[in-house]
Amino acid sequence: MTKTCGYCGSKIEKINDKQYYCEFCTMTLSESSVKENGERVDLKVMQYEMSVSDLNKTTPELMVLSTIELLHLLTLARSERSKAYGLMNTFWKAQEVSEDEEYKKFESEAGKEYQLATKKVFVIENIVGKRLGYIPQRINKYFLAKYMNNIENCNTNPMVINKERRRKVAAK
Ligand SMILES: [Zn+2]
Repeated sequence: MTKTCGYCGSKIEKINDKQYYCEFCTMTLSESSVKENGERVDLKVMQYEMSVSDLNKTTPELMVLSTIELLHLLTLARSERSKAYGLMNTFWKAQEVSEDEEYKKFESEAGKEYQLATKKVFVIENIVGKRLGYIPQRINKYFLAKYMNNIENCNTNPMVINKERRRKVAAK
């Protein structure tokens, strides 16, 4: 088995127990980038089901998620934000028509929740935006299904370079 670089397919040099160096890429490769016989780095993430509790992840934790996971999480973050907005709005209306001081307190609490939910949306939008070069406005089932379809159909043939010109076989 020849160890090869997952980015360019070159043969790589072992520099110590765990690390390899790729001369073409001029970098030390992490374990996940060390492949065999021209295999590519792992591209296909087929699982992306996220849950609302994943929104508790910190920004560095979110940064290592796959793009499809982030896209799904962004839909959840946006829906949590609109729920928080709805709640804030309800208390705002209630405190307008009532003397009860409690509603003011609730409104302020709901306002904080809404702020946090909005920040989470910003973070995920920006991580996704850096990956794609744009921030998708509407992410629905169709968008995710199309994205998954692209992943499934993605060509992950090994990186083998034919140095000889391929001879055309005449079709009969
Ligand atoms: Zn390389």
